[in-house]
Amino acid sequence: MTGGAGFLGSHLCEALLARGISVVCVDNLLTGTARNVAHLAARPDFQFRRRDLTEPVDVLGPVGYVFHLASAASPADYLRLPIQTLEVGSLGTRHALELAERKRARFVLASTSEVYGDPLEHPQPESYWGNVNPVGPRSVYDEAKRFGEALTSAYRHSRGLDTAIVRIFNTYGPRMRPDDGRAVPTFLRQALTGEPLTVTGDGSQTRSVCYVDDTVRGIVALALSGHPGPMNIGSPFETSMLDLARLVIELTGARSPIRFIDRPADDPAVRRPDTALAYRTLGWAPRVPVREGLLRTIEWFARELPVPRSA
Ligand code: NAD
Repeated sequence: MTGGAGFLGSHLCEALLARGISVVCVDNLLTGTARNVAHLAARPDFQFRRRDLTEPVDVLGPVGYVFHLASAASPADYLRLPIQTLEVGSLGTRHALELAERKRARFVLASTSEVYGDPLEHPQPESYWGNVNPVGPRSVYDEAKRFGEALTSAYRHSRGLDTAIVRIFNTYGPRMRPDDGRAVPTFLRQALTGEPLTVTGDGSQTRSVCYVDDTVRGIVALALSGHPGPMNIGSPFETSMLDLARLVIELTGARSPIRFIDRPADDPAVRRPDTALAYRTLGWAPRVPVREGLLRTIEWFARELPVPRSA
């Protein structure tokens, strides 16, 4: 697996190991951390390799699946690392595909709802082609992922590689970095440290947030299914950013106020997956209600964050 020391990747490592599948985790720790997989390090069926995917990569022995997750994923990260994001999405995807081809493995690309851009169709089915600004600040991520999908499709159609594309929608849970800039960790950090919760724009823009265990279960099911995708995996339960901030305040018992700040450029107004394909093909639907997922995440964040100084 590439990107296995990141947020999603580390949970995917655990899910595969739990199924008796050995994992080689390849990661350059650009946005991930070895701490995320430290608890797996002693296992004989787990190996960590610190490698940059922009260089060709090889692993010893047979490989059944190549899960390609390496990429900065939070807007704060990819805006700070624009060239690296384009490179891992292009060169990195190529190297991961070459590994899968050499090993005759099934290749699973972690794509994203960002391929739909600021969508003109709502909710977004897999057949929607997207509305992406190719020269906007977010294009380094959106277009890298779109290129990754195109390259994966080319390997499938011209080289006969067994591939799958999963379009992952906003996912949250333990091991997100409190400073990674995405809505859930930002709100949780702010609430738990007594800062104001910063909601962008008027907070009416929507997202559908999915708990990490559900997302990972969907990725594994797609990998094992033989379906090529693209397949949306994400929560169909849509919430406005303002409602999400209010829920975080309620669940943490914080006394933080809400502060409205500017919306970033090209920030999508709405985002909700059409998950009919995943349900029909894999019987997959998210199981963890947002309250429960947030409570589990709050528990983790509360342990990780420094205790705020009392006033
Ligand atoms: P993350 O930043 O926590 O993890 C990404 C991992 O990739 C990190 O460990 C990082 O060090 C590694 N990486 C980056 N560049 C690399 C390179 N050149 N070589 C080797 N490793 C490299 O992000 P995440 O949230 O875990 O996302 C994982 C994948 O899932 C990404 O591909 C992302 O686009 C996709 N995704 C995530 C979400 C989400 O909500 N978390 C939504 C849609 C898609």
